Amino acid sequence: MSHTSSPLDQPVTGLRGVGARLAERLGKLGIQTLQDLILHLPLRYEDRTRPQPIGGLLPGQSALVQGEVALTELVGGGRRRLLCRISDGTGSLTLVFFRLYPGLQARLSKGVRLACFGDVRPGPAGLQMAHPEIRVLHGSEASAESDRLTPVYPATEGVNQTTLRRLVQQALEFARAGLPDLLPDWLAGNQLPGLLEALETVHGPAPDCDVEAMQAGMHPACRRLSLEELLAHQLSLRQFRIRARRERRAPVLRGDGRLRQGLLDSLPFSLTAAQRRVLTQIEADLGRTEPMLRLVQGDVGSGKTIVAALAALQAVECGQQAAVMAPTELLAEQHHQGFRSWLEPLGVEVAWLSGKLAAGQRRRMLERIASADCGVVVGTHALFQDEVRFHRLGLAIIDEQHRFGVHQRLALREKGQDAEIQPHQMIMTATPIPRTLAMTAYADLDVSVIDELPPGRTPVTTVAIPEARRGEVMARVAEACADGHQAYWVCTLVEESEQLQAQAAEDTAALLREALPALRTGLVHGRMKSAEKEAVMADFAAHRLDLLVATTVIEVGVNVPNASLMVIENPERLGLAQLHQLRGRVGRGAAASSCVLLYQAPLSEGARARLGVLRRTADGFEIARQDLAQRGPGELLGTRQTGDWQFRIADPERDADLLARVRDAADRLLQHDPARSAALIHRWVGRRQQYGRV
Ligand code: ADP
Ligand code: MG
Repeated sequence: MSHTSSPLDQPVTGLRGVGARLAERLGKLGIQTLQDLILHLPLRYEDRTRPQPIGGLLPGQSALVQGEVALTELVGGGRRRLLCRISDGTGSLTLVFFRLYPGLQARLSKGVRLACFGDVRPGPAGLQMAHPEIRVLHGSEASAESDRLTPVYPATEGVNQTTLRRLVQQALEFARAGLPDLLPDWLAGNQLPGLLEALETVHGPAPDCDVEAMQAGMHPACRRLSLEELLAHQLSLRQFRIRARRERRAPVLRGDGRLRQGLLDSLPFSLTAAQRRVLTQIEADLGRTEPMLRLVQGDVGSGKTIVAALAALQAVECGQQAAVMAPTELLAEQHHQGFRSWLEPLGVEVAWLSGKLAAGQRRRMLERIASADCGVVVGTHALFQDEVRFHRLGLAIIDEQHRFGVHQRLALREKGQDAEIQPHQMIMTATPIPRTLAMTAYADLDVSVIDELPPGRTPVTTVAIPEARRGEVMARVAEACADGHQAYWVCTLVEESEQLQAQAAEDTAALLREALPALRTGLVHGRMKSAEKEAVMADFAAHRLDLLVATTVIEVGVNVPNASLMVIENPERLGLAQLHQLRGRVGRGAAASSCVLLYQAPLSEGARARLGVLRRTADGFEIARQDLAQRGPGELLGTRQTGDWQFRIADPERDADLLARVRDAADRLLQHDPARSAALIHRWVGRRQQYGRV
């Protein structure tokens, strides 16, 4: 089957009345082909199928009415307008025209029968319609314009509704002539209409259609389209993954378990059941010749790092290297410390690479990385750079994936030994993406979840306190520190500028030092040299500091179990996911911990809702669901390009039940019906499939 031959693939310029200008304007709506036109769904509908009795009109309604002109008059001096009163026996209505043109008044002379469509509003003399569309009715001519509801499309300058309606109808004619229904029967079931029927319905529903369901995307016609779109999207991602696996080989990393056992023996704790389960999955993946592509999700504090260390050792046991990459300097440094303290006693060398190394150090590190002695390399995205040559990279681990884009993820895959061999890849994220969304966002990955926190944690109590009560909050800090605990004070600014953030943190630190002279107060922010930051963090970790004033640089990964109090300034400026991450820095020890959200009153409605969610729950998945509902998937997934994400019709949260059906269907179709799969991908993902080609 050829996938490029559909007549619907032709550009809109193939339609009557579409020249270069109009085509360009349509382009602004994302419409380039006829297919784009038929998938351009209405925002809402107008009922022009029958006139409404004027007596029953309500303000706010858009309605078709029909009546006889009782009176037409020009009023006003400077700003003249034409008022026309019509009645239909049930009531009367005033039509108001501000833009006057020759002949208008004459058209509306007394006794003329009119059909009008417009928005009903309250006016000085009862209900009125400003600038209705009008049509003079002759003889017994009926006012109804259509036997279907009239669609109102998303429009743009220079493209009006009439044009869009006309073009969509033309495109639908092509569809009627030959738009194959690609959804397999076993997936479509018998609840949903066929493709063409669904399209006819959304572009011109019958008057008795459930318009509310339609506008909410829940009408069977919309569901039919969403289902197909989700399937196509899933097919494209799964196909990408299957290709990546088929075309590439990874080193088989079985290992004898000696180093792993050594690490486990040295730990003061035993793994949780969830950690063990995820490790079993990783162990199996690494033992295969297909590259592992696994996402490990685990809420803040669930213990992902040790899982990463054990996976890394499995590679080292086989004479291969593991790279561990973190999104920030601070977190990478912390991982470096952690990995060294775990692995060096076992005789495994841990190298370090960041963009901030001096030239000489950097050269030495690059040599280490290229040598057979070095087992593990920890670093920032500096690890992606071209000059970095690994001796034998067997496993790439990426922490806190949402900070990296899909391109970076793929770049690390290319760091394998040669073109055919690529490292296994493990991605860790604390952004607990709801399952349904993960299935779509990460359809190219296998997903493991560490759904259990290590024992002995006490839940964090969260309170919101207005800025006016700052004194009280400082007293709380003093008290916690007097009890032998430690505290964070987080300064947040919306400004992207690190400099402003740093300034705010410095000011706050100065104020706190003055107000709380008994405390040993430290400061970290993004403008400090990494050695300075590291020193301050080390002091805080060793309890040589009581209070740490910080910018959001401490958001990810920082781990000081004795810290039991966190104050977050201006939490109203941050998103839920970020607040949850920050709060995860406390509650890591046995002491009861708390988080104070020191907000600036008055709160906007959205901010109030966000802080409310945070106070109610500590469950990262629940928070992610709320975040998704408030901000949508693009925000939640951070750097992932929104292009991967744009659905025309489907909505992965709303259509979660469809998504579940689609996942298995995609694999089955790819295996048994590649032609149909390709046609579906072409239809829906088409030119946006760059993702699969990076
Ligand atoms: P995250 O998943 O947020 O990256 P970490 O890996 O930083 O969490 O782990 C948080 C803390 O929990 C660390 O101090 C770590 O040593 C500790 N930890 C990890 N696993 C366990 C466990 N099974 N039992 C007790 N403590 C654990
Ligand atoms: Mg972590």
